[in-house]
Amino acid sequence: MPEVLTAPLTLEFPFTRSLGPVQSAFLTGLRERVVLGVRTTDGRTLVPPVEYDPVTADELRDLVEVAPTGTVTTWAWNPEPRRGQPLDNPFAWVLVRLDGADTALLHALDAPGPDSVRTGQRVRVRWAETRTGAITDIACFEPCEGPTAEPSGHSGEFEDAVTGIVAPARLDYTYGPGRAQTDHLAALAERRTVGERCPSCHKVYIPPRGACPTCGVATTDHVEVGPAGTVTTYCIVNIKAKNLDIEVPYVYAHIALDGADLALHGRIGGIPYDQVRMGLRVEPVWTEGSRFPDHYRPNGEPDADYDTYKELV
Ligand SMILES: [Zn+2]
Repeated sequence: MPEVLTAPLTLEFPFTRSLGPVQSAFLTGLRERVVLGVRTTDGRTLVPPVEYDPVTADELRDLVEVAPTGTVTTWAWNPEPRRGQPLDNPFAWVLVRLDGADTALLHALDAPGPDSVRTGQRVRVRWAETRTGAITDIACFEPCEGPTAEPSGHSGEFEDAVTGIVAPARLDYTYGPGRAQTDHLAALAERRTVGERCPSCHKVYIPPRGACPTCGVATTDHVEVGPAGTVTTYCIVNIKAKNLDIEVPYVYAHIALDGADLALHGRIGGIPYDQVRMGLRVEPVWTEGSRFPDHYRPNGEPDADYDTYKELV
């Protein structure tokens, strides 16, 4: 049996969000080196500010400036910073209660090592050189001595308020397809399609998941299917995908390969899109170096009778 495959995968997308009045003021303030909190109806000051009181649900709009100095309320050492974190060198994650605030803000503290960080430590904001109206306008916190820094006295009213941010979301992970799909992928490398048969109901699954979804028993019996198959159902795609060099309209179909009890997906080529039909007999078309069929095309056989594939629609 071949070694089980793994592959690094990255899931990444930009998330664009509007800010609303409170977050807009907070981030615009950071751009101008002013830290704003919001006052609750019972007189507490929340930093970072929120639009609604987490206790009473009152709407909060009374923005007040707090100092750029504060006190560490708790912390954790981060020995191996990851991509996108505030600092490249090891640092402490800290909750900092800024002077004038009643709640703490999560950020990074630039410190030489965990021995130099403690709860109760005095710290101050280190501003980013280039500020755009984002939490990263605070580059990090740094240790400081001495009393509370004076707030700037800013009114909290700014020109050109920041009204939205783009937050890049990214997830790096290692994908392991497991034994059954590893075998399936190894066969595809030889341009063969291999599924697995359930020992109980005898259905053949493509691609195999390692267990029968109906019977719940392990599938281990390899079965080669295809290469020809039957279009069981299809749709016409009219929207051009950003990263695909395929002319629209084209047809994407469910294809039941001969011998399989589960239809797979594939693009249909070699025939005008409006002539594709249920029951059309097709065969895979491989391109140089590809690990799966580029598309399927008619193989010239007469259309399959509906009764032969109706269970797979
Ligand atoms: Zn089964």
